[in-house]
Amino acid sequence: MSWKDNLKNVEPYVAGEQPKDKKLIKLNTNENPYDPGEKVNEAIKSFDASSLSLYPDPEATGLKEALALYHGVNANQIFLGNGSDEVLALIFLTCFNGEKPILFPDITYSFYPVYCHLFDIPYTQIPLDEQFCINKEDYYVENGGVIFPNPNAPTGALLSVEDIRDILLHNKDSVVVIDEAYIDFGGESSVKLLEEFDNLLITQTFSKFRSLAGIRLGVVIGNEYLISCLNDVKNSFNSYPLDRLAQAIGKASVMDSDYIKENAKKIIATRERVAARLKELGFVMPESRSNFIFVKHPSYDANKLFKELRDQHILVRHFNAPRIDQYLRISIGTDEQMDELLKAIENLEV
Ligand code: PMP
Repeated sequence: MSWKDNLKNVEPYVAGEQPKDKKLIKLNTNENPYDPGEKVNEAIKSFDASSLSLYPDPEATGLKEALALYHGVNANQIFLGNGSDEVLALIFLTCFNGEKPILFPDITYSFYPVYCHLFDIPYTQIPLDEQFCINKEDYYVENGGVIFPNPNAPTGALLSVEDIRDILLHNKDSVVVIDEAYIDFGGESSVKLLEEFDNLLITQTFSKFRSLAGIRLGVVIGNEYLISCLNDVKNSFNSYPLDRLAQAIGKASVMDSDYIKENAKKIIATRERVAARLKELGFVMPESRSNFIFVKHPSYDANKLFKELRDQHILVRHFNAPRIDQYLRISIGTDEQMDELLKAIENLEV
């Protein structure tokens, strides 16, 4: 066997396009269309560049304390990393031991199977029901861990905290991870379940709700012991969770949460308005509790519509995957951007 045969056959994650064309209306990777806020601007302007000659605080103390206060937990219940994709990778490596299969939905965040292949973790994907919802009872079987986004991606459907509690009650022997990348657009966080369950990890991101996809900041909230295990694994790679600038910006954002919540309210209102209009135009969609909608027209090919919108400088997301290839995922932009989208769809006479 040659060294080439021994290389890991990685199936890479296919990320959404990040186009260079600034004129595009970019509705394909669920970024927040609003500014990160005045406090973040001030933190950047007053940032002392000379401090960059020194290593950052390996504990990210200020940011962790601010987040702990925001979520009503202790600072040692918080773990940070460069985006939630990174913290998810560390969770897979640390918590899913590779003997029993971990469970996640069939139609979910496509990074999960990528990490399973990378770390040799067996997995079972459980189909969503007809309405694209997670059926909690499907997760009451023996497993090596459970993970799903809430709301799910790319469907946008939300599971209640009560349903998540039921899943936890049936999974006391494995780690349950709730990926809350989109929780702040109308969902309720499962953070309060941490008082009851020590096998729960919740991941969040600064990329969506906090308009900070550009700095890469991901968060895990969990029981102190699990968090210390994540720290041990992370420290074996690189003991600095975040650079100085990300720590300063992240903290400023947490201090500006009232402003950020107002933006989320605007996004929810825009989502509801656009969803209602698209329904009038014949589209169908699961009810979304996130900053995107997942829509299908019964008699208009999704890939054709994707290309036609792109020709009009509007970029949405099309997944070439079974069961969802007739759907488009559309991120919620500003009202003006979404009016352009509606106008384009109306002109196409979809
Ligand atoms: N989880 C889900 C469900 C997502 O859709 C995304 C964004 N693509 C992430 C995690 C990762 O977000 P980030 O790495 O920007 O924090």
